[in-house]
Amino acid sequence: MQHNPTQNANPNPKILFAKSSLLFALEKLAMQTQKPHAALLASPGMGHLIPVVELGKRLSAHHGFDVTIFVVAADSSTEKSPIFASASGLDHLKLVLLPPVDVSGLIDLTTSVVTQLVMMMREALPSLRAAISIMRTRPTALVVDLFGTEALAVAEEFDMLKYVFITSTARFLAATIHLPNIDAKAEHEHRIMKKPWEIPGLEPVRFEDTLDLFLNQTDKSLYAEYTRIGREIPTADGILVNTWQDLEPSTLHALEDDEFLGRVAKAPVHPVGPLVRPVGPNFKSEVMNWLDKQPVESVIYVSFGSGGTLSAEQTTELAWGLELSRQRFVWVVRPPVDNDASGNFFNVSNSQDGTPNYLPQGFYTRVGDRGVVVPMWAPQTEILAHKSVGGFVSHCGWNSTLESIVNGVPMVAWPLYAEQGMNAAMLVEMLGTAVRPRTRPANRAIGREEIADMVRSIMDSKGNGMRTRARELQRGATGAVCKGGSSDNSLTQVAKECEIKLHRLSAKALGA
Ligand code: UDP
Repeated sequence: MQHNPTQNANPNPKILFAKSSLLFALEKLAMQTQKPHAALLASPGMGHLIPVVELGKRLSAHHGFDVTIFVVAADSSTEKSPIFASASGLDHLKLVLLPPVDVSGLIDLTTSVVTQLVMMMREALPSLRAAISIMRTRPTALVVDLFGTEALAVAEEFDMLKYVFITSTARFLAATIHLPNIDAKAEHEHRIMKKPWEIPGLEPVRFEDTLDLFLNQTDKSLYAEYTRIGREIPTADGILVNTWQDLEPSTLHALEDDEFLGRVAKAPVHPVGPLVRPVGPNFKSEVMNWLDKQPVESVIYVSFGSGGTLSAEQTTELAWGLELSRQRFVWVVRPPVDNDASGNFFNVSNSQDGTPNYLPQGFYTRVGDRGVVVPMWAPQTEILAHKSVGGFVSHCGWNSTLESIVNGVPMVAWPLYAEQGMNAAMLVEMLGTAVRPRTRPANRAIGREEIADMVRSIMDSKGNGMRTRARELQRGATGAVCKGGSSDNSLTQVAKECEIKLHRLSAKALGA
């Protein structure tokens, strides 16, 4: 039989070894040059999507991550929202709208916004799991917001690092993780006897500033869901918070110190903020043109976030209050909704035709060119950054608060729901950059005279130090996120953890 050298049944073991070594080295090189990949999960609502997108942008632009953001929404109209659309066009950041979740069959009139959010996030879990399982490069880490903590279990299934991103304050984080540890007596003392809520290492939370979960008497699931979230947050590998070291030093200390909340938090807490939406380049609109013509710091901006709505009575009082204050203003108005301060929360389109007809008779004529009314939605970051804006009447949602701080703008703190009362107290009592109504706006309509007084006190705040303090906070905020700042360093730390995980996974895959 003739020997054919090309058909060698027993290949030279030396050649085989060299080939496999080369392949191994190439694969290793490919894995070593692979970037860490973070999957972020955003719960419904613009106030959640906006900071999650900003975190994604920061991770990709400054810390070398590939980023995929999974967005949960009630319907597909979210895809058409300006926030979603602008984030979709960014390099290194992939936005995936998970199949819309419909929980309308599970809710009734007593179901709070938070419980609806929790239900939607729960319903979205199978789609999230399916989406991750078909990804070509498995993400190194999953980052969820407050309402997505049940998805931490999905991260575990796929051997990913797990992070929670608190899009609010360290103080709110402290309250949430402390919640599962309070007993029935402490709950009774706060909820029923209205005594201040003691949280280890923190200034107590006064009842009038407290969280919705203590105030809501009808939604039976709310307290239990928050308590579950409070238990799940510490199971993460790290907790990211949209705050910074100099803004909340004592609370951040309490969250680290085992004598206070360190034992409860368990995971390291990383202050990574302020992460806020930047001003769009050359942004033009009617309201911006009007602002261009106003004197420096002469305009008060009035807005209650993406979800906030006022009663008919309160809308009328606010209109009169702005008129009486004699100050220039930009007011984002929404049709009045009685008994639901978060009446616009799930409305993504924010469209409205014509001039709003629910303001007091003759309002437009009397105000003339001194004020601008914007129906439903305004370019808030651009407005707050404009040199003509000198004050902000705000519901104290944390994104709005941060946008005010990064522009050095003092505020009238007008909390409506969720943790906004705690934010208002912090702005007024701890940071000294805001005034607030004598009683919580949820409890009664704030009268026109009180509104006019608050607006004037902010706009005339040269003497009372609020503007100076706001400027100091602005400087601290800028320093925290610049290269080498405290928040930038926190994210570098997170990036390192993800790189180590990536190398471990690579080594495991190569059987090393
Ligand atoms: N926002 C805006 N235009 C509006 C109302 C809200 O751009 O007319 C943005 C605002 O800049 C902020 C977010 O929507 O980034 C609202 O988040 P926040 O945490 O302040 O309040 P929420 O809407 O979650 O209650």
